[in-house]
Amino acid sequence: MDLGIRGKSAIVCGASKGLGKGCAAALARDGANLVINSRGREALEATAEEIRRDCGVMVAAIACDVTTPEGRVQLLAACPNPDILVNNAGGPPPGDFREWDREIWLKAINANMLTPIELIKATVDGMIARKFGRIVNITSGAVKAPIADLGLSNGARSGLTGFVAGIARQVAQHNVTINNLLPGRFMTDRLRGNTETNAKKTGRSFDEQVKVLLGGIPAGRFGTPEEFGEFCAFLCSAQAGFYTAQNVLLDGGQYPGTF
Ligand code: NAP
Repeated sequence: MDLGIRGKSAIVCGASKGLGKGCAAALARDGANLVINSRGREALEATAEEIRRDCGVMVAAIACDVTTPEGRVQLLAACPNPDILVNNAGGPPPGDFREWDREIWLKAINANMLTPIELIKATVDGMIARKFGRIVNITSGAVKAPIADLGLSNGARSGLTGFVAGIARQVAQHNVTINNLLPGRFMTDRLRGNTETNAKKTGRSFDEQVKVLLGGIPAGRFGTPEEFGEFCAFLCSAQAGFYTAQNVLLDGGQYPGTF
């Protein structure tokens, strides 16, 4: 299916690896030109080169911390008028809420709520003027079914979710959509790291801990960044213009509710 985004420009944050890379690669396969970002330069350049080679689109790699004002200035200078924006950054660390002071909370809120809001604010009026815009925020299944030791993520991302629910309805009439894509468990460095930490905490081996996690996923496996990316690309397609203000859970059936 042609997604109708050939030649459109997309900013994909946090895209040197994992879910962000999956989104960038899928958008590029459908012909979008990219500006991709992460803090580490080496992996980012390698990803940019891989996508250029595989998809023949233009890819600019901007190595910066998207959670800082300076980082966002660099990113927007490379692509001031994106048609597509995929918001993403690392998730906050797990832990016990008693140990989180104000500074730790502000860091999580900055990264997982205020940073996407700043980028939406900087790009949405251009999208409105051009009568096409697709914004996807990578959040987490934890927004729908909170994970106790990821309280920083549950809290900060819920704030973003509430904000998006309001603003998406203000811009929908201009063919600008804003949706949140909620990953369940996808095998990326982030999940690998969290699994190693939890294995150590519980005295299990890594493989035993993986088995425990898989036990909660009806699909019997973790998701792949490629699957996640294809979903993101569809949300960014011309065909998805009537789909907005939604929270799309991608979790292999892990969430147990009917709705
Ligand atoms: P990942 O494999 O660790 O990849 C994160 C990507 O974001 C990397 O490219 C990283 O590169 C970049 N990044 C991190 N912090 C950044 C920053 N401040 N500025 C710019 N780039 C930054 O993680 P992932 O699994 O793809 O997760 C992506 C998001 O989904 C995270 O917020 C995570 O919490 C959330 N999530 C993931 C899962 C899962 O199962 N994987 C489940 C629920 C939620 P650098 O480190 O070089 O900057």
